[in-house]
Amino acid sequence: MTGLSAAYFLSHTYNVDVLESSAEAGGLLSSSPVHDTNIERYYHHCFSGDAHLIALMDELGLTADLIWLNGSTGYFSEGRLYPLTTPFEILRYPLLTVRDKIRLALLTLRAGKYKAASYDDMTADAFILNTCGRHVYDSFFTPLLRSKFGDRRHEVSAAWLISRIAIRSDRGPQGERLGYLRHGYQSLITALSDAVRRNGGAIHTGIPARTLEKTEKGVWMVNGAPYDVVVSTVRPSILTSIGGPHLPDIPHQGAACVTMGLSRDVLKGIYWVNIKDEAPYGAVIGHTNFAPFEWYGEHIVYLASYFQDNPPAGHEERMITDFCTRFGVSREEIRWHYMTTDTASGPVYTTGYRNLIPPDEVDGCYCSGMFSSPNYPERSMEGSIVAARAVADLILSRKVRHD
Ligand SMILES: Cc1cc2nc3c(=O)[nH]c(=O)nc-3n(C[C@H](O)[C@H](O)[C@H](O)COP(=O)(O)OP(=O)(O)OC[C@H]3O[C@@H](n4cnc5c(N)ncnc54)[C@H](O)[C@@H]3O)c2cc1C
Repeated sequence: MTGLSAAYFLSHTYNVDVLESSAEAGGLLSSSPVHDTNIERYYHHCFSGDAHLIALMDELGLTADLIWLNGSTGYFSEGRLYPLTTPFEILRYPLLTVRDKIRLALLTLRAGKYKAASYDDMTADAFILNTCGRHVYDSFFTPLLRSKFGDRRHEVSAAWLISRIAIRSDRGPQGERLGYLRHGYQSLITALSDAVRRNGGAIHTGIPARTLEKTEKGVWMVNGAPYDVVVSTVRPSILTSIGGPHLPDIPHQGAACVTMGLSRDVLKGIYWVNIKDEAPYGAVIGHTNFAPFEWYGEHIVYLASYFQDNPPAGHEERMITDFCTRFGVSREEIRWHYMTTDTASGPVYTTGYRNLIPPDEVDGCYCSGMFSSPNYPERSMEGSIVAARAVADLILSRKVRHD
């Protein structure tokens, strides 16, 4: 998203070449074909406050395809699935006391009012313990933090947690209002790629940037070819490893996601189910309890997990076996499945993260991506577009001055 958006914003002025190492464009937002449509390799939805994303979709002619749906939630604990969407379901939920629920409700109401960035040096652990107490920490937040950050959860900053809660507070009695594109977010990737090409740019898939070197005249060369401007949207350590400017690395984590086609709904109509007990995945996402079932003709479910460094051996099989046992699903009910992994699926927002964010330009090379300030303290499609816009505006403003 960052690379394609930056290419699009610059393609009105420059002849742009996009180098993408994978076989297709889209990165974390890429999709696989399923029946007559596409399904994201990693579950995606947008939020009503994603002003830049919504404006870009409009500019690309996708507004009619953007639909707003209810995202229901639930918690799975010790063999039981508890719906946790409506006020009545929340009141009835037995694993939190009334006092816990009041504290959580107050935190949710106040989340948007906190200045999240000023909590960058406090751990999420300390913040939750201060505001909600030990029981809410153990029984509500620990499973969420464990599933998202694994062993590094105790290092995560309160800034991340607060902004995460604030983003996810746009909820009515039927759940969160979340946006999805008819035909999936692949239509956004396709529309962006087409727009870049229409403006004279080229997208080279399957071609990684292998080398970056600066000539004596100060021109950056990518794979041996000179460019007036180079924008990198890869993790800073990758940029440095191929010869780019030296940047402090930003800790990233990997994501492994199993996508399955099932013959029945095992999530009682719920979209997002958090797993409270220890499991090889942290959430089960019922995509067709969100996007209309009729688009696919079968129940599509994701098993979501994050990992440090590399996914554990046999991870896909372990996730599926656990899912079958935990949710009482037989193997025959899983019609197909595949796992997608990415070792740089997002930064780990440790305390002090703000100081690691690189500037948009270092030594004449521009860089922008999930690690940039518009994606702090949480990366998103919206953040990618804002980061791309900022770096493109910087480049264009310098060009005007230079011309
Ligand atoms: C499981 C999961 C769920 C998510 N859900 C949501 C959601 O619901 N809503 C939301 O807004 N956001 C969501 N996100 C976040 C969103 O997907 C990202 O913030 C966004 O897609 C990041 O885009 P990017 O271009 O910065 O990074 P990437 O998508 O990682 O793009 C980087 C690209 O660089 C390529 N590359 C790497 N090395 C090289 C090289 N040497 N040469 C050339 N190319 C290279 C990669 O192949 C990749 O295509 C989710 C992310 C994950 C992992």
